[in-house]
Amino acid sequence: MPVPEHCGELRRLIDSPVMFGEPMHLHTSWRIGGPADIFVEPLGIEDLKAVIAYARNKGLPLTIIGAGTNLLVRDGGISGIVVKIAGGFADIRVDRVTVTAGGGAKLHRLAKAAREAGLGGLEFIAGIPGSVGGAVVMNAGAYGFSVGDRVREVTCLDLEGNLRRLDGGQMEWGYRKSVLQGSDLIVVEAVFGGFPRDRDLIAADMEKILGSRKARQPLEYPSAGSVFKNPPGNYAGRLIQESGCPGMRVGDAQVSTKHANFIVNLGRATASDVLGLIAAVQERVLEKFGVSLEMEVKVLGRD
Ligand SMILES: Cc1cc2nc3c(=O)[nH]c(=O)nc-3n(C[C@H](O)[C@H](O)[C@H](O)COP(=O)(O)OP(=O)(O)OC[C@H]3O[C@@H](n4cnc5c(N)ncnc54)[C@H](O)[C@@H]3O)c2cc1C
Repeated sequence: MPVPEHCGELRRLIDSPVMFGEPMHLHTSWRIGGPADIFVEPLGIEDLKAVIAYARNKGLPLTIIGAGTNLLVRDGGISGIVVKIAGGFADIRVDRVTVTAGGGAKLHRLAKAAREAGLGGLEFIAGIPGSVGGAVVMNAGAYGFSVGDRVREVTCLDLEGNLRRLDGGQMEWGYRKSVLQGSDLIVVEAVFGGFPRDRDLIAADMEKILGSRKARQPLEYPSAGSVFKNPPGNYAGRLIQESGCPGMRVGDAQVSTKHANFIVNLGRATASDVLGLIAAVQERVLEKFGVSLEMEVKVLGRD
C-alpha cells in the first residue's frame, strides 16, 4: 500500500497528528535528517498502542525517537513509521523521595521538578537536553553520575501492546548503555530516586553545572553532544584534540574548536557530511593513537 494511504488509515484510527514525509531535521538537535515516511507523535498510550499494532499488522518498520538529541538521521530519511515520544508522555509527579516522569518529559523539567521539591541526587541532569526515555535508553550521564544510578523502575510498552515494569536492577546499565538498546521496548515512564536536600544547594550545584557546560560546549551551534564514547581510561575529546582534528570540515559539518568531541552544524550540514567527518576523525585518531573511537550517537535511516 502506498505511504499516503497508510497515513490516511492511521488518521482514521487515532487522534494524534500523523505526518507524511515529515522532515527529520525538525526533530533532531543537529538539524539534520531526511523525511520520515510516516511520522506520529502520540497524544497518549492508547494511540501509541494503536500505532504499534498498525505497524505490526502491515509489516511496517517502527522507529522510536525522543527529543532527537543523540541522533544522526541519514539524508534519505526513515522508512516506515517514526514515533516520537514527547508531549503525550510528559507528566512529572514528585513524591517525598521519588520523581515519576513520563518517557517524553524533557530532562530540564525533571531537573527543575526535583530542585523545586528539594530532592537531591538529580543535579547532574541539569543541561542534558534530551527526554526521559532517551536518557534511560542511553544511560545518559555527566559529572560522575548516570541516569542508571538514580532510576528505580522503568515502565515500557512492548510490541504486543503490553506494559512491562523493569526495576533498576534489571536494566543492565553500562557506560551509555542499558538493556533497552536494541530491544523493542518503548519507555513510557520512569521512577527516579533521590534524597531530601536543601533547595538552594541543589540550585547552586545546577547553576554551576550549567555554567560549566556553557563554558566548555559549543551550545551556539546545532549538535548532538559528544559524538564518540570515551575509550577506557581516556577521553575521546582529548584524543581528537591531540590528533589535530578541531576545525576539520566536511561541507558544513565541523569538528568543534571549543569541544573536540562535538561536531557542529555550521548551517547546511548533511548527514553524509557528518558521517564523512566522523570517518576522517576516526582514521586520524587510529593513526596517531591506535585507538578505534566508537560512536555514542545513534545513526538511523537510509542513504
Ligand atoms: C548539547 C548536548 C549536550 C549533551 N550532553 C550530554 C551529556 O552530558 N551526557 C549524555 O549522556 N548525553 C548528552 N547528550 C546526548 C543526549 O542529550 C542524551 O543521550 C539524551 O539522553 C538523549 O535523549 P533523547 O530523548 O534526545 O533521545 P533520542 O536522541 O531521541 O534517542 C536516543 C536513543 O534512544 C531511543 N529512544 C528515545 N526515546 C525512547 C523511548 N521513549 N523509548 C525507547 N527508546 C527511545 C532512540 O531510539 C535512540 O536509540 C547531549 C546532547 C547535546 C545536543
